[in-house]
Amino acid sequence: MTYNPDNIFARILRKEIPSTFIYDDEYAVAFADIAPAAPVHVLVLPKGEYASFDDFVQKADAATVAGFFSAVQRVAVQLGVDQTGYRLIANHGVDASQTVPHFHMHILGGMPLGGLLADDVLAR
Ligand code: 5GP
Repeated sequence: MTYNPDNIFARILRKEIPSTFIYDDEYAVAFADIAPAAPVHVLVLPKGEYASFDDFVQKADAATVAGFFSAVQRVAVQLGVDQTGYRLIANHGVDASQTVPHFHMHILGGMPLGGLLADDVLAR
């Protein structure tokens, strides 16, 4: 998957599109998902140009990978879902329905999230 610097999250990172960052450090930024699937639904992105999880782990150095995942944990604490629980999702590629080709993790919480996959997917 090649990185397209015109993807929507790249434009948000460059501040070409206004967005409120709820977290911002050397390794990551976080902001609310525009179409929340749960009461808490936040996206955490590395600042570098990585198209997906696979691309990130292959290309980023160890400090960047560690820094990013530490940031995800800090955002979850900041959101107050570390005690009640949360789900992390990183969609990579077509079968996972990745829609934005800049690596991001979803933090979902604030309610019981049910099983791993939606019922309509399981019923197929
Ligand atoms: P994916 O399917 O790639 O894992 O998730 C992309 C997510 O980005 C979706 O949940 C979608 O609602 C969210 N999203 C797409 N465009 C925007 C945007 O312009 N702003 C924000 N905050 N979220 C977006």
